[in-house]
Order: sequence, then structure tokens, then C-alpha cells
Amino acid sequence: MRTTSSLKLSWVRFTSCSGCQLMLLNCETSLNELARIVELDAFPLVSSAGDRSEPVDIALVEGSLSTPEEVERLLAIRRHSRLLVAVGACALNGGINALVKGERRSCLAGIYGEQSAGWDSFPPQPVHHFVRVDWQIPGCPPERRELLESLGSILHGGWPGRQLMPVCMECRCNENRCLLVEDHAPCLGPITLAGCNASCPARGVPCEGCRGVVPEANRDELYRLLLETGLSVQEIQHRLERFGGTPHGQADR
Ligand code: SF4
Ligand code: SF4
Repeated sequence: MRTTSSLKLSWVRFTSCSGCQLMLLNCETSLNELARIVELDAFPLVSSAGDRSEPVDIALVEGSLSTPEEVERLLAIRRHSRLLVAVGACALNGGINALVKGERRSCLAGIYGEQSAGWDSFPPQPVHHFVRVDWQIPGCPPERRELLESLGSILHGGWPGRQLMPVCMECRCNENRCLLVEDHAPCLGPITLAGCNASCPARGVPCEGCRGVVPEANRDELYRLLLETGLSVQEIQHRLERFGGTPHGQADR
């Protein structure tokens, strides 16, 4: 039930798979409590209503941008939002969308044919390339716990704690087998921001780096170890660039 002191929250979607929204919906047992303290202005996965460019307390922005119209919309959202939170890898560093390589015009023509001739489009860009971002929630998709903890802190007027260690630390804490050193698998755990409890390596799958790069990452040492896995220089380059090879632009605070 809404209260007069509810905070107005709007979820805004650009190019994405909507997986970040789905992750919030998956927080089933916490949704009632969330609904008591927020008035949801827009949530595109469940309703086409909303996104009315009205002032909101918090805009949660999912997805990357690749057209001037999207940038205009984002600028309007920034103007109308007290706080803007970028959610998920697409919004933080372009994500999977930014994997598209090659000349943009021929990519569009290959997918959409002649109708794309007049389209104004540029390679997918993260949100912080265009507007100030107050907080970022990493992941592809983000962890449910992290979504709730971040929202809880922000809704109560604070900021969440920041995770600054790499995924390898979580692996060590859980006594996982090291895929990189013991199996020579191309794991990006050493340079990837922790917070997922080493979800992939715990299941025997090398980390893809979806949470972005940890500050002060030792890329040179990882590069050397990745060469030992048998990957070519080009394959290593592509792997490191997949989720933004540089520390994702953490908001200033
Ligand atoms: S498996 Fe990957 S994340 Fe885990 S310790 Fe080894 S390199 Fe680090
Ligand atoms: S282990 Fe790596 S790829 Fe898997 S969820 Fe964590 S950060 Fe993402």
C-alpha cells in the first residue's frame, strides 16, 4: 500500500534483455516490503504505462544507448530524477550489446536490410558516457541480494557498501578449485569485481567478467596466465574487452 511518504521510483529500459528487471521480480519475498516504501512510476517488463518523464526520486536505468533519440530520453530522465542508478552490465559498460564489432552501417544493413539506410545509430554506449550516475549496480544480471541491499540503502538515505576485491577472493573463501591455475581455463576472476560469490567458478565455469573490472586489477599478470591457457593474443583481447577492459566508471561516491 502506498503511503504519503512513498518515494517515487522509475525503472527505465534502453537496449537490454530485461534480465535486470527480471532479477528484481525474482526477489519475490521482498517485493511486498518494497511496495510499502516506493511508488513505482514505471516498470516496462510488466507494464507499458509510465515513463512519463515526470519527476521521480530515483531512476533505475537498464541497458545501453545507441541512438540520438535514446540519448535525448536519457538526458530528460536525468533532469527529472533526483538520483540516477545504472543497473547491470549493459548500462555500466555496454554489456553484451557492445560486443558487435565492425563498421556500424554494414552491421545494420546485414541485420535490417535497406530500411536501415537512413538510421542514425552509433555503437552501444554505457549510461555514464552521457549523464552523471549516482550509483552503479554491476552484474549480468545483478545479484538479487545486491539489488535489494543497494535499493534498501538508497531508499533509506544512505549508500551501499562497495565491493572492492576480485572474484578470486570469493573462490578462495569457498575453497573452490582454481580453474585458471589448476585447469588452465581462461577465467577472468583475478580482475573481476567480486559480489557474486564466485558463482561461475563454483560450478566449474570460468568467470566471464560480467561484474566489470576491479580497481587496481593486475591485467599484465592475468594476460600472462591467459597466454598459458592457449588463447591467442586476439582471443585474449576480445575476452578482456567483453565487459569493459577498464574499471567500469564507478560513480564518484
Ligand atoms: S577459478 Fe577463477 S575466480 Fe576462482 S580462484 Fe581461480 S582464477 Fe580466481
Ligand atoms: S563469476 Fe564472473 S561471470 Fe560469473 S557471475 Fe561472477 S562476475 Fe559474472
